[in-house]
Amino acid sequence: MIAPKSDKINLLGLNRQAMQDFFVALGEKSYRAEQALKWIHFHGMREIEMMTNFSKSLREKIVAVAEINPPEIAFESTAPDGTHKWVIKLKDGNCIETVFIPEKTRGTLCVSSQVGCVLNCDFCSTGKQGFSRNLESAEIIAQLWIATRSLSHNKAIHDRAVTNVVMMGMGEPLLNFDNVVRAMDLMLDDFCYGLSKRRVTLSTAGLVPAMYQLRERSDVSLAVSLHAPNDELRNILVPLNKKYPLKELMRACKDYFKDANRRYVTIEYIMLAGINDQPDHARQLIKLFKDEDVLSKIKVNLIPFNPFPNTIYQRSDQATIDRFQEILMAGNINCIIRKTRGEKIDAACGQLVGQVRDRTRRAERLQKKVLLQDKL
Ligand code: SAH
Repeated sequence: MIAPKSDKINLLGLNRQAMQDFFVALGEKSYRAEQALKWIHFHGMREIEMMTNFSKSLREKIVAVAEINPPEIAFESTAPDGTHKWVIKLKDGNCIETVFIPEKTRGTLCVSSQVGCVLNCDFCSTGKQGFSRNLESAEIIAQLWIATRSLSHNKAIHDRAVTNVVMMGMGEPLLNFDNVVRAMDLMLDDFCYGLSKRRVTLSTAGLVPAMYQLRERSDVSLAVSLHAPNDELRNILVPLNKKYPLKELMRACKDYFKDANRRYVTIEYIMLAGINDQPDHARQLIKLFKDEDVLSKIKVNLIPFNPFPNTIYQRSDQATIDRFQEILMAGNINCIIRKTRGEKIDAACGQLVGQVRDRTRRAERLQKKVLLQDKL
C-alpha cells in the first residue's frame, strides 16, 4: 500500500537555516529551530506533542502545518559479520537501502542519495536497475535517523552507534546536490548528529563541476570512484568519464585541498580480474598521480569487486590485489585494501539495488532473494 501524500511540511529534512525560516514564518523566535532540531535528531523524537519545552499553543501551531514523517522500514537483516541492512520503503512505494558496518573503533553508515542511478557504471548493480528519482533531504537524513534510533534500541547486536557516514549507497550524490548537502548539514550540526567533517564522506563517480561547487558549500570529505588509470578503460567502466575525463577529474581533486585543513581525497579503485588489476595499471596510476601533482594528497582504497547476478566481471584474487597494493606503496602512494563486508545479505559495495518500481525484473529477483534470506 502506498501511503497517502501529506501536504504538511516534513520537519525531518529541514537544516538549521530552513528550520529557522519555518519558525520565523510561524511568528516565533529563531532559537526554536535549535530546540526542534535537538528533539528530532538528537533525541530521535517523532511526536511534536511531546516536545515539552514548547508551549501547548506552539505545539498546536506546529502540528497544524508540519509533521515528522520518516519513511518506513520494509525489512532489515544482519549478516554474520554484524553488517546490518535496512530496506526502507518510501511514500511512493520505491525502496532504498542503507547499510551499517560496525568495526572495532567505529560504526559506518552507508547512505543512499537516489532511487537507482543514471550513471550505469558497468560493474555496479545499482546502475543496472535504472533510475527513478532523487531522494528528498528528509529521505536522506531519515536513513541516519532510522539507523541511530534502531541501533540505540538494539545494543545486543551493535554496541556502537554511527560514528561515520559515507554517501556511498545507491545513486550519485552530486546529481542530487541540494538535497544531499542539506542532509549533510544535519549530519554535521551539533544540535543533530554532530559528526566531524572528516567522518562524513561523499563519494562521486566524478561529476567535475559539482565537485567545485561542493568545495564551496560544504566541509565534508571527498571520495572519488576512479577504477581505471587511463581514459580508454575508464570510458568503459565509468561512462561519465567521456564527459569529464581523467585530467579534468584530477584537477578537481587537486582543487579540493586548497583549504589546508582538508587532508586527503580518497581514491576508490575496484579490483576487476584481468581488467584493471595488472602491475602495468598500477604503474599507470602512479604516473597519472605524479603528472597531475596529487600524489601526496590522495589515499587509495582498493575495493575487491563484489559480484552480482549476470555480471561479466570477477573479483581479482588476493595475490593480485596484494601485488597491486605493493606497487602503489612503492610509488609512495598511501594505499589500503577495503575489507568486504555484508556480502551474505547483498549489502556490500555495488550490491545495493533497493527497488525501483516497475523497472526491471532483475531488481525484483534480487529483492526476493533478500526477503528469502531474511526468513532463513
Ligand atoms: N555514485 C557514487 C557513490 C556510490 S558507489 C560513486 O560512484 O562514487 C560507492 C562505491 O562502491 C564506489 O566506489 C563504487 O564504484 C563502488 N562499487 C560499485 N559497484 C561495486 C561492486 N560491484 N563491487 C565493489 N564496489 C563497487
